[in-house]
Amino acid sequence: MNIVLYGLPGAGKGTQASYLVHQLGYIQLSTGALIRQEIQAQSGLGQRVKKIIDNGGLVDSQTVNELVEKFLNQHVHQNLIFDGYPRTKDQAQSLDILLAKKNMKIDIVLNLKADDDQVAQRILGRIICEDCGETYHEKFNPPVHHRCHTCGGHCLKKRSDDTPETIKKRFASYYEQTYPVLAYYKEKGLVHDIDGMQAPDKVFQDIQEVLSKKSS
Ligand code: AMP
Repeated sequence: MNIVLYGLPGAGKGTQASYLVHQLGYIQLSTGALIRQEIQAQSGLGQRVKKIIDNGGLVDSQTVNELVEKFLNQHVHQNLIFDGYPRTKDQAQSLDILLAKKNMKIDIVLNLKADDDQVAQRILGRIICEDCGETYHEKFNPPVHHRCHTCGGHCLKKRSDDTPETIKKRFASYYEQTYPVLAYYKEKGLVHDIDGMQAPDKVFQDIQEVLSKKSS
């Protein structure tokens, strides 16, 4: 089953993707993480897009689609979670074409519904492991002894784009450019709403229920 995790930045997509990876064996494709890896490696692509990310804008679709295609070539026919992608209607259409070429498709879209103000608070407390991408929260889910529980690394940092000014811009691009993605998938009857404001365990329980109904 291939899943799109849809929702506002900070709605909990990364946290739920991590549950799906560790408990159900899914493979996570996070375009944000792929882009951050490019920035960390100071590749040409990374240097080109760093400013855009720090300003809260969207990276151009051609660049992102290429990263996705490269990832898919290495993970054909696995159970995938798309996290932070597609973020525009044209990306959703490109993804359908790309998946069709590989005899794959999106099976379900999980819409993590969340409240803007509460999500902004979550983002401001967010900590990320630069080594493996695992996310924490300084208040609600703090890492013990400043160490990542997943990979044991010490590279726990705030994201450079998790600032109040950038959050405003990221929410604006979400409503202007990403919202139409939901309508695109609703037309195909793929969208299931999940209350993303519950405790992460409860959100995951609801996700599991939806997935087991879908596969039965
Ligand atoms: P995320 O980790 O999903 O919050 O993404 C962080 C940033 O990476 C976003 O604010 C965008 O600047 C960029 N980004 C991630 N995914 C995409 C995408 N699908 N299309 C365009 N830009 C993206």
